[in-house]
Amino acid sequence: MRYRKLGRSDLTVSEIALGSWLTYGGGVPRERAEACVRRALEVGINFIDTANVYALGAAESFLGEVLQDVPRDRYVLATKVFFPMSPQDSGLSAAQIGKQLDASLRRLRVDHVDLYQCHRYDPRTPLEETMAALTRAVEQGKTRYIGFSEWSPDQIRAALALPGARFVSSQPQYSLLWRNPEPEVFPLCAREGIGQIVWSPLAQGVLSGKYLPGRSPPPDSRAASAQMGGFLQGRFDDRVYAGVQRLKPIAQELGVTLPQLAIAWVLRRPEVSAAIIGASRPEQVEENAGASGVKLDAEVLARVDAALA
Ligand code: NDP
Repeated sequence: MRYRKLGRSDLTVSEIALGSWLTYGGGVPRERAEACVRRALEVGINFIDTANVYALGAAESFLGEVLQDVPRDRYVLATKVFFPMSPQDSGLSAAQIGKQLDASLRRLRVDHVDLYQCHRYDPRTPLEETMAALTRAVEQGKTRYIGFSEWSPDQIRAALALPGARFVSSQPQYSLLWRNPEPEVFPLCAREGIGQIVWSPLAQGVLSGKYLPGRSPPPDSRAASAQMGGFLQGRFDDRVYAGVQRLKPIAQELGVTLPQLAIAWVLRRPEVSAAIIGASRPEQVEENAGASGVKLDAEVLARVDAALA
């Protein structure tokens, strides 16, 4: 496993991070979920991403349980706030940030997280209030650093203009099938010392190549799962699945698997500090961790683009 600096912070994170959306405390059975986390630590992953809203607290509780016997300095822990935890509890007001961070720390069984992220921008709270509350959380030692997910360039610039704690990370969706943050968010953040930790680098498993045009999804896949498949429904079509199949020979020639090629593709960018993978099985963790260190040259990148054109 290779490691990168997270933006301007002093955090050193594995370039493959393990996420917990839909999977842990949710659709993946407890024992298998624990095996994924243990395998992640074994292969050198030290960066774990979660959120208060994942399985409404259950993902954090699961991680708190599994990580309680792991020395706290062996892993970098990131969580998030914004989405509703109850009809009264959502957003980025000072009151919510205080309340939700304390609840996350309790569930995670730690006295601090390393990274506290705004899961989205909150247009209903003055940005000054949010940034002051995040600054307080840093001063209180409850989080070491702060970050955001899916903020627009204008929102990012507005936050950077305010006094207090500065963002060190940005969490956008980014993959071979979703390149939106490249033109604006990447360069803006690079200038400001903000690292990208990118989500769904496999487009929720689509870039593993297991979904075939004209076929039903494999029964043990996210797309076939009643509990986890909702965010995949209707998102991709046979043209995409066919394009992904065209990547297979490229991966084979490189001596890597298709998931490894797709993850190496996001890691080719120096702006990216880590790719946050999801995994429903420990074998996937191991396979995907193998993307660390895979180099893609200009010719391969051109062939990849042509395959997906
Ligand atoms: P991925 O794109 O990595 O998809 C993960 C899923 O793909 C797995 O659960 C598994 O599903 C399948 N898969 C993974 N590896 C393989 C493999 N080697 N071969 C075949 N199938 C494989 O990421 P996620 O969509 O899970 O997102 C990753 C993380 O990003 C989340 O856990 C979360 O931490 C973060 N995230 C953040 C968001 C935000 O708004 N900030 C939004 C979404 C995610 P299966 O086996 O069930 O098919």
